[in-house]
Amino acid sequence: MTDFLSTGTLPEEYRELALTVRDFANQVVAPVAAKHDAEHSFPYEVIAGMADMGLFGLPFPEEFGGMGGDYFALCLALEELGKVDQSVAITLEAGVSLGAMPIYRFGNAKQRQEWLPLLASGRALGAFGLTEPGAGSDAGGTRTTAEQDGDSWIINGSKQFITNSGTDITRLVTVTAVTGETDGKKEISTIIVPADTPGFVAEPAYNKVGWNASDTHPLSFTDVRVPAENLLGERGRGYANFLRILDEGRIAIAALSVGAAQGCVDESIKYAKEREAFGRPIGSNQAIAFKIARMEVRAHMARTAYYDAAALMLSGKPFKKQASIAKLVASEAAMDNARDATQIFGGYGFMNEYAVARHYRDSKILEIGEGTTEVQLMLIGRELGL
Ligand SMILES: Cc1cc2nc3c(=O)[nH]c(=O)nc-3n(C[C@H](O)[C@H](O)[C@H](O)COP(=O)(O)OP(=O)(O)OC[C@H]3O[C@@H](n4cnc5c(N)ncnc54)[C@H](O)[C@@H]3O)c2cc1C
Repeated sequence: MTDFLSTGTLPEEYRELALTVRDFANQVVAPVAAKHDAEHSFPYEVIAGMADMGLFGLPFPEEFGGMGGDYFALCLALEELGKVDQSVAITLEAGVSLGAMPIYRFGNAKQRQEWLPLLASGRALGAFGLTEPGAGSDAGGTRTTAEQDGDSWIINGSKQFITNSGTDITRLVTVTAVTGETDGKKEISTIIVPADTPGFVAEPAYNKVGWNASDTHPLSFTDVRVPAENLLGERGRGYANFLRILDEGRIAIAALSVGAAQGCVDESIKYAKEREAFGRPIGSNQAIAFKIARMEVRAHMARTAYYDAAALMLSGKPFKKQASIAKLVASEAAMDNARDATQIFGGYGFMNEYAVARHYRDSKILEIGEGTTEVQLMLIGRELGL
C-alpha cells in the first residue's frame, strides 16, 4: 500500500503533524468508534485527548492560545481523523472552522480575548447557527430576528441541524439574525449567544442516519437577551461574513471527505487480501482490484483538489471556485468509495460494527452539509460567469 505521507511531497512539519494525528486516530479513536456510534454518545474522552494535543488551536496564533499553525494543518488533521471516525473529525471541523474561526476572523479585540483561548483549548466548543427550518441552501432566507433594545439584542427564532450545539462543553452559538432592512433588503447580522443565556434552548438531539457520535440539535430562541457588544463583525455584514467562513469550511470538509475515501481504500485492500472465495483471495480477481484502484484514484484526485484550494487560500489568492470543486469531488469520492468498500466486504460490510459500514452511513451527509452538491455546482457556475 502506498501511503501519501511517505511520498515526500509534504514539508516535514506537516508530515509529522499528520503522523501524530494518525497514531492518535488508530490508538485512541478507532477502538471506541463503533461503541460511540452504536450508543449515539458524544466521545468526551476522545475530544479531551484531541484538546490535549492542541488540535482545536491548530490554525490560531499563540497569543490566543493556539498552536500557531495554519488552515492546511487543520485539514491534514481532519483527513487523518476522517479515515477512522467521521463523527470525531466533524466535531473538530465544526469546533474550529465554524465555531472559533468566525470570532478570529471578525471579532474585535475584546471578543477574541474573551472567547478564543477557551475555544482554542478544546475545553469548550462553539457552534455556528446559520441553517433554519425554512432556510438551508437559501441561507439568506433567515427568519430569526434580533431587535436592539437599549444596550441589548433580543433574539427570537429557531435554527436547525446545528453541530456541537448541545454538548456539556458547548459555550456559545454564533447566529445569523435579521437586524433590520436596508433598501428593501433584509439586513443580516451575526451575534454571539452564550449557551447559558435564558431563553436559548438546545432541543433534543436528532436521530441521524450517520455521524451518530457527533452532536446535532435544533435550537430555539425566545426573547434571548444578549449585550449589544455581542454583535460579531459589522452590522449588516453577517451573511457575507458567514459565506466567507463557509468557503474556508468547504476545504476542511473536503479534507475530512478525503480521509473517509482513503479509509475505505485502506480497509478494502486489507480485506481483499485476507478474504478468500473460490479458493483464493478476492483481491486476486481483477474485478475487485480494479474497483480498489478506482477508489484510490478518487481519493488521490480529491486530495489534490483540497491541497490546491488550501494553497490558494493560504497565499491570499481567490479560492472560492477551488474550494467548491474540492468539496464536491471529495464528498462524492467518499460516498462512492464507501459504497464500493461495502460491496467488497460483502455481508460483513452491512454490519454496523465494521468501519466501512459506518463510512457508508456517514458519508452521505458530506454531499449535503456546508453546501449541497447542487449548491457547489451553482457556485462554480457563477465563478465561470454563468
Ligand atoms: C448532520 C448535520 C449537521 C449540520 N451542521 C450544521 C451547522 O453546524 N450549522 C448550520 O448552520 N447548518 C448545519 N447543517 C445544515 C446543512 O448545512 C443544510 O442541511 C444544507 O445546507 C442543506 O440545506 P437544507 O437541509 O435546508 O436543504 P434545502 O436547501 O431545502 O435543499 C433541498 C434540496 O434541494 C436542492 N436545491 C436547493 N436549491 C437549489 C437550487 N437553486 N438549484 C438546484 N437544487 C437546489 C439542494 O441541493 C437539496 O438537494 C447541518 C446539517 C446536518 C444534516
